[in-house]
Amino acid sequence: MSEALPRSSPRTTQMVVNGNFVPFEDATVHLMSPAMRYGLNIFEGLRGYWNAKEEQLYVFRLGEHMERFAQSMRLLRFDPEFDVADVTSAVTELLRADGHRANCHIRATAYLDGMGEHHVPKPVSWCVYAGPRPRSPKVEIGIRAQVSSWRRMSDNAMSPRIKCGANYANARLARFQAQLDGYEDAILLNEAGKVAEGPGACIFLMRRGSLVTPDVSSGILESITRDTIIDLARACGLAVEERPVDRTELYAADEVFLAGSAAEVMPIVSIDGIDMGDATVGATTRELQKAYFAAVSGDSYRERNWLTPVYT
Ligand code: PMP
Repeated sequence: MSEALPRSSPRTTQMVVNGNFVPFEDATVHLMSPAMRYGLNIFEGLRGYWNAKEEQLYVFRLGEHMERFAQSMRLLRFDPEFDVADVTSAVTELLRADGHRANCHIRATAYLDGMGEHHVPKPVSWCVYAGPRPRSPKVEIGIRAQVSSWRRMSDNAMSPRIKCGANYANARLARFQAQLDGYEDAILLNEAGKVAEGPGACIFLMRRGSLVTPDVSSGILESITRDTIIDLARACGLAVEERPVDRTELYAADEVFLAGSAAEVMPIVSIDGIDMGDATVGATTRELQKAYFAAVSGDSYRERNWLTPVYT
């Protein structure tokens, strides 16, 4: 279901920075800011979904993303002088101002501005970006993944629960290794050697008829898509287990997929060269994908309260 970039998609010409619309080229940060020097930013990646029938753009689970945005700032001891509600409304205002009428990606960031050291609590600036982002064609055919020799950083070192830009150095190491070795993505184990997550998505497997995913103490981001998939799976009558997952359970699984706001529901068809089932996208993965795509775009009545309409 490859979606070509619609011609009507606006180019990203502006961002919202500290509450003001700023031309894209002028949305800059100083080289000596802690955000630049130490990677001290927290962010949320969200998606907007165009519903052609209703001529409406929906932002998926905006409230939950902004709750996590606030939590990341608190855990990283940022002391913002702004209200997170202003960042929340900037998301819909920017999408509206740019006239997005296709699927898009949104990024809300809070970062340590000024010239301070890594231990200063402020000043905290914020910005919102939005740009067109079609669905990856790989959701149809799946990807091949490698269990990384890099470990997911632990909650006691730099918590994956905090969605901090600097965490993605850990993700980068794993993804680079996987791609250099000929795979498309990585799966990281935690310090205890249990399965954690992908570099930018959480992970699910189907085993003996149950949907299994690492619990929130497995060294993972508390993913909003993970919560969504668990909810959709239970609504489909599937048993869901949140628990520590062994590496070999990945190989023994009938189906495995990654899930995240950007990744959506991304099937994994082989891991370390071992095929999942017959190395095609499994039936349950397909069913959950279908339920997810219906939920995010407003095609399913049950999940409508997860959607924020952009156009009123
Ligand atoms: N884990 C990591 C490391 C991620 O970067 C992401 C993407 N934000 C996820 C999981 C999925 O989180 P969410 O479903 O909230 O987007």
